Amino acid sequence: MAEKGKKRCSFCGRTEEQVALLMTGMTGYICNECVEQAHNILREEALLPKSDFNMKELPKPKEIKAFLDEYVIGQDDAKCALAVSVYNHYKRLMQRGADDEVEIEKSNIIMVGSTGTGKTLLARTIAKLLKVPFTIVDATVLTEAGYVGEDIESILTRLLQVADYNVEEAERGIVFIDEIDKIARKSDNPSITRDVSGEGVQQGLLKLLEGSVVNVPPQGGRKHPDQKMIAVNTKHILFICGGAFDGIEKKIAQRLNTHVVGYNSVQNKMHIDKGDMMQYIMPQDLRSFGLIPEIIGRLPILTSLRPLDRGTLRNILTEPKNSIIKQYVKLMEMDGVKLAFEPETLEYIVDTAVEYKLGARGLRSIVETIMMEKMFEIPSNGVKECNITKEYAQAQVEKSATIKCAV
Ligand code: ADP
Repeated sequence: MAEKGKKRCSFCGRTEEQVALLMTGMTGYICNECVEQAHNILREEALLPKSDFNMKELPKPKEIKAFLDEYVIGQDDAKCALAVSVYNHYKRLMQRGADDEVEIEKSNIIMVGSTGTGKTLLARTIAKLLKVPFTIVDATVLTEAGYVGEDIESILTRLLQVADYNVEEAERGIVFIDEIDKIARKSDNPSITRDVSGEGVQQGLLKLLEGSVVNVPPQGGRKHPDQKMIAVNTKHILFICGGAFDGIEKKIAQRLNTHVVGYNSVQNKMHIDKGDMMQYIMPQDLRSFGLIPEIIGRLPILTSLRPLDRGTLRNILTEPKNSIIKQYVKLMEMDGVKLAFEPETLEYIVDTAVEYKLGARGLRSIVETIMMEKMFEIPSNGVKECNITKEYAQAQVEKSATIKCAV
């Protein structure tokens, strides 16, 4: 029988003396231990799919691709691979916590394509759509623990930061590792010197990719040696890797050549499009390039991005929702000026980008060069319309080229 007059927790019945803290409510009390337990229940609840995602809300692969189409031109293979992989990632998250015999394994992706073909853009665009924490990290800065550079765990520091240090949130995030090709093994003979930024990093990445509990420094880097580590389980984190893999075409060609020898060879050779070898990429080519087989095995979806031809560059200039031209029109609109580019001007910009061999990255700097003077003058001179002709564009580009040569 409870002693009369003694304050007790209304949930567990313990008295004030038996607990560290007893909080008073309108009609009862709650002790610190019950608050903690309630918090745990809430946290577990939050992991359950129904609170976050449900099948109906889940964007279908086709919808994900349609969203990507608004911002990224072409690259359909990569878009489909990404869409399916992200969709499955969501499904896996929904399964998390459920008592299911068939456990869905994660399918990390690797995207291969020359620089400026849209790998980072794809990753950024997908991040806009997602309701999970997302971060982009650069593999070039990673080194084995103890050497100059960043520890591999720092990848997760970034994710934790975007998730506002909410570990559960971070544990279902997506990480885009850019320049993964830069950690390829430097030589075929591993014994000469220790390869601390190549194979060593790949070994370190393995445990992140496959899923394990990793101690993460919350402040990142090695500048805060006394910081308390946070344990993060990477089992449900989706990794998307991207890299240019410069020179891999040669390895692909070599493989195709050795394979087409013999019977059936003439037929096979006829189908090979030599201008775009990247489309024939297979996991073994990544291996010849210097990725270790274990890493390749943990990146089961391999997709390639096409080189950007003239037509694609022309579309990139005007078609995406936030295309370069649309951005400049918007900038001018804010000054009350109607900006227009004549069609020949756009053709000229594309031709110059092709000539400079800068791909889509070049488009932006060319438009910037053409527009610089106008952007400087227009806000003060009160004009209402601005038409950019090919002659004007050409003059600006040539002028800047002469300046650059003179410097
Ligand atoms: P990568 O990561 O492959 O080196 P990025 O994604 O950083 O290349 O591309 C650089 C820029 O080029 C992007 O910001 C974007 O403006 C443009 N770009 C590249 N590819 C495409 C594409 N397929 N569609 C639209 N814009 C593109």
